Amino acid sequence: MKRPIPVNTPVLGGNERRYLLECIDSEWISSEGPFVARFEEAFAGRVGRRYATSVTSGTAALEVALAAIGLKPGDEVILPSFTIISCAAAVLRLGGKPVVVECDRLTWNMDVSRIRERINGRTKAIMPVHIFGMPVDLDPVLELAREHGLYVIEDAAQAQGLTYKGRPCGSFGHISAFSFYPNKLVTTGEGGMVVCDDPELDKRCRSYRNLCFLPERRFVHEEIGWNYRMTNLQAALGLAQVERWDASVVRKREIGRTYQKLLRGLNAFQLPVEGDETAENLYWVFGLVIPEGGSLTAGEVMVRLGQEKIGTRPFFWPMHAQPVLREMGLFADESLPVSLWLGRNGFYIPSGLGLTPEEQQRVVEVLWELYG
Ligand SMILES: *Cc1c(COP(=O)(O)O)cnc(C)c1O
Repeated sequence: MKRPIPVNTPVLGGNERRYLLECIDSEWISSEGPFVARFEEAFAGRVGRRYATSVTSGTAALEVALAAIGLKPGDEVILPSFTIISCAAAVLRLGGKPVVVECDRLTWNMDVSRIRERINGRTKAIMPVHIFGMPVDLDPVLELAREHGLYVIEDAAQAQGLTYKGRPCGSFGHISAFSFYPNKLVTTGEGGMVVCDDPELDKRCRSYRNLCFLPERRFVHEEIGWNYRMTNLQAALGLAQVERWDASVVRKREIGRTYQKLLRGLNAFQLPVEGDETAENLYWVFGLVIPEGGSLTAGEVMVRLGQEKIGTRPFFWPMHAQPVLREMGLFADESLPVSLWLGRNGFYIPSGLGLTPEEQQRVVEVLWELYG
């Protein structure tokens, strides 16, 4: 019997168990427990920010960030079409309008040269999203934002440990958002974080996370917030995970480079870029794209790998082709062929931190058998 190789396996072998037991032994399990502040501080340090506010998910982090910059109904936010629904959903929850741009065929990140044409009087923010291990080309984004007085909300959920021109991703946005879902570099099971350097923005993030209690009188509210508080149990896991940050970054790149080396000769897929002048790929996931004229479809390859008990995930389905968003009347005239092409032809293979060298070898062998 072949053992299954999941698309992602986390590594929990450090202080996770000890810190969790500390929570239980001390009876601190809620968001009031001491690990929450410790995790926030350690995480802020890692991404080079002054303030960090933990929340319950990456999706929640984006909502809190947009609320904190004062996104109002009718405000527009420019984001890549090739991303997760969380980005567009957060904008819509606040009554805003997501405006999508095309992505790059090689890096899979938003094509920043297409942002300017989408800016108008209603634009409030740009939301660059780092995709699959390569950063968005941020300098032109920051320049445009300065020029037009826009906020930058950086979605760095997939970019923990990644740098852009030597500086940590997540250190660039007015507010930057992270997720701690188990396929992310640091995981808390479920969880997220918003980080920033501005004390006013930080205060607003903390308030929105915690139902907007007035500091001077609890249970009195001038605004509606959310209960997006992270528990002490989750933060205990998170702190232990942050302690393994450097090793996790090294391991991610090792997995990615091994796939590069062993799959290149197959000539069956467009592989991820190894890097460019802004960054070296972190290979948060290892994506494969079937080129034009490929003998098998992405769906067929995923089925074949599935028969060998190897987990895969398809790429994102672009926002401009989402049934739910089109039904709202959004993106009716939008034609973004690169995003759609990636959505149709891309998928990723196991690359979690818990992947063993033997497992990786088997994934490679099965792909070679499929095309050999
Ligand atoms: C994972 C992810 C999210 C959402 O995070 P959750 O914790 O699953 O809500 C948002 N944006 C990006 C780019 C992600 O990869």
